[in-house]
Amino acid sequence: MKNITVIGAGTMGNGIAHVFAQNGFTVSLVDVSKDALDKAMNTVAKNLERQISKGLLTEDQKLKTLQNLNIFTSLEKGVADADLVVEAATENKQLKLSIFSELENLCPDKTILASNTSSISITQIAAATKRADKVIGMHFMNPVPIMKLVEIIRGYSTSDATTSVIVELSKKLGKAPVEVNDYPGFVANRILMPMINEAIETLYHGVAGVEEIDTVMKLGMAHPMGPLHLADFIGLDTCLSIMRVLQDGLGNPKYAPCPLLVNMVESGNLGAKTGSGFYTYSAGSKEKAVSAYFQK
Ligand code: NAD
Repeated sequence: MKNITVIGAGTMGNGIAHVFAQNGFTVSLVDVSKDALDKAMNTVAKNLERQISKGLLTEDQKLKTLQNLNIFTSLEKGVADADLVVEAATENKQLKLSIFSELENLCPDKTILASNTSSISITQIAAATKRADKVIGMHFMNPVPIMKLVEIIRGYSTSDATTSVIVELSKKLGKAPVEVNDYPGFVANRILMPMINEAIETLYHGVAGVEEIDTVMKLGMAHPMGPLHLADFIGLDTCLSIMRVLQDGLGNPKYAPCPLLVNMVESGNLGAKTGSGFYTYSAGSKEKAVSAYFQK
């Protein structure tokens, strides 16, 4: 494994590209949006600076990491030499199926195709290719440079050989891989997302305000971040997509997304990435204040 292609340069893609590049891999970062690619490169540079200021990285390592990163708007050019593709595009099943069927045609036979999907079936994604044995879930956590876990999802046809390559690779990145089977939400989001949805229901029913709910979970349950704040960081569109996958895939009404979450997504209040969700965020800053909507 030497050449890694990351598809999607958003919240997750820039972090995944950062971690591979920092560990000496040559990374091609692909996005349909040139703006997203430019923002991703800025974010990686800023995060590398933060690592330097904490004494975790040298200036020389920062330069080498940036040299290992290349950006592309053309998928064809971005995957030409890929040993591994990690797809981290928007959480949308049709989009992922179409990306994987293109990858089948564009990538060499040897290429392993991984998805960073939070919840979409790896088995279905694999069926869009002719190499289902080489398709696997590689679910990094946000923020990728900091979080240790990689949830490794075995689709119905994923081979032992592919799984062991990806497990070993994750260890080389300094991560802790955990293998799970392919059912809706896998393990991480089967447990996390209903909790976040329930926090939104609690707000929707007027049981408590945004800060009160987050404070209860931070101080009472020792969570490092409250569930509403975390939802803003994951992206409310991503949270809604995951709830819909759980609802469709498991068929239990307890997975219905809260109507407030649906309204927030439909109104474009997607959390930190749009500057407004349960909290508001000033540009380029992680400082937060409860959104004016919830102070009414
Ligand atoms: P995001 O909205 O921040 O970024 C998605 C990026 O994909 C955008 O830059 C968009 O331009 C790009 N994109 C869309 N279509 C594309 C295409 N055809 N080719 C190339 N790029 C394309 O989303 P995100 O939060 O980074 O999520 C990406 C994936 O990671 C999703 O599958 C999501 O479920 C998963 N994930 C997200 C989190 C999280 O906390 N946000 C955590 C773990 C996994």
